[in-house]
Amino acid sequence: MTSAKNFHDPPSIPRGDFELGRLKSLSYSREAITTAMIAHLHPGRYYPEDKLPPREKQALERFKYQGSWKLGNVDNIEDLTEFFDLFNDMYFNGLLTGYCKLVLIRAGTLQKRFLESGLIGRCEPSFPKEGRDPRFQPEKVMCTLSIAIEDDRRVLRQEKGSWKRIQDRLDTLVHEMLHAMFDIYTCRCEKGCRQKLEGEGGGGHHVAWLAVAKAIERKDADGHRQFPCLGLDFARLTSLVGDLQLGYNLPRL
Ligand SMILES: [Zn+2]
Ligand SMILES: [Zn+2]
Repeated sequence: MTSAKNFHDPPSIPRGDFELGRLKSLSYSREAITTAMIAHLHPGRYYPEDKLPPREKQALERFKYQGSWKLGNVDNIEDLTEFFDLFNDMYFNGLLTGYCKLVLIRAGTLQKRFLESGLIGRCEPSFPKEGRDPRFQPEKVMCTLSIAIEDDRRVLRQEKGSWKRIQDRLDTLVHEMLHAMFDIYTCRCEKGCRQKLEGEGGGGHHVAWLAVAKAIERKDADGHRQFPCLGLDFARLTSLVGDLQLGYNLPRL
């Protein structure tokens, strides 16, 4: 039995530490990450644009002048990477930089790999010292973000316009980025943190994830209304229902 003094009580995140280079990977509770993210996303509900955090302000400028997608070739990794960088600066204060790898994958292949029908995206983290094969241990946490492309482009091109397909990609991308945020920064130590994560139940769409997803959606509705493709949708309800169908319990409040 572990005595109370041996339990790890992860620290809170002071405002000034919510920055790349200051925030430490694998170090905080889900609650602390949620609190810091919501404070960052909503410093005041309605604020003038010149009061935005610098990274977000620059990202919005880039978005205004460069935020486009090649309509003739929707399935391209370059545009996906550009939007990853924009969202990373806009919502995550750049904190995913250097921790993620993006992959475009056929929907059928992704669904077969994870034995989940209907799957259109996946964040697969690898943690140092936790891999099955010691020869392939990453030095730091790395997340592979897989975004599905349709299996039969000809059929889908007739059913769904390019714009709808791009919006689906962006929704999936930001959804998986939020999984990555929690994978990268949540403490998984054996002094109680890992046990707490396992005990909380729920799948990947735990209460902390749902709260930040809602905060980003609200930020878009409040402040980014002028950019139609920033009406991001995290599919919160469908994701939660998906977790229940996979046999997870409802996340504990
Ligand atoms: Zn810990
Ligand atoms: Zn998810």
